Amino acid sequence: MSALPLGIFGGTFDPIHFGHLRLAQELAEGLALEAVRFIPAGCPPHRTSPSVSAAQRLDMVRLAIAGNRRFVLDEREILKPTPAYTVETLAELRQELGAAQPLCLLLGADAFLGLTTWHRWQALFDFAHIAVAQRPGFSLSAWEDTMPEALKKEFQRRLQVSPQNLKETPAGSVVTFSITALDISATAIRNAIKSGKNPRYLLPDEVLQYIQQNHLYQ
Ligand code: ATP
Repeated sequence: MSALPLGIFGGTFDPIHFGHLRLAQELAEGLALEAVRFIPAGCPPHRTSPSVSAAQRLDMVRLAIAGNRRFVLDEREILKPTPAYTVETLAELRQELGAAQPLCLLLGADAFLGLTTWHRWQALFDFAHIAVAQRPGFSLSAWEDTMPEALKKEFQRRLQVSPQNLKETPAGSVVTFSITALDISATAIRNAIKSGKNPRYLLPDEVLQYIQQNHLYQ
């Protein structure tokens, strides 16, 4: 019997919000993932909010996913002294989980469109499938025209119509998936807080309480 794919969900999560959580939930259900591993990026200081530490981003992810038994926190990138490339993280996971385990990297459509700028991006497909979720502003219909040529070629070659195929092979396919469109971004949440607005209902209450208690993003 083939194993269920494991979802790998990286991000800055600065802070984590309902756009992230619905993506993980809907892809976990829609692609029959065994679990989703949230892997917060250990970003260089200029990429994250100066007032928020890696440990605090980690705490917020921990709070947000508590109680969902399919969601797992993976601290490996944050614990490294320098930022990790996704391809390295996937190679590590492949090593740990064995050659047969299907892995599926979960990306929003905006992230997928920027894929050719990632370190050794073509090698990502050696280690994992990629599932691309719709994100407002980045419609999946007619979006091939907006892809760089090299990405379009890989996309067309690897596209699977049925998500069921993901468990038949360990890596190498692409699927696209429509999810509930939530036009939420961490940038907008940070800006709202900075300008004195309340971002409640865009992210879990527990995360908002943590932000308020620690005076983050002000
Ligand atoms: P920022 O505004 O700081 O750039 P962000 O909200 O885009 O942050 P990230 O941590 O950069 O969040 O995103 C991690 C992953 O989640 C990416 O693959 C991104 O495409 C996806 N994602 C984030 N928000 C949404 C959303 N509202 N809908 C669908 N996908 C999303």
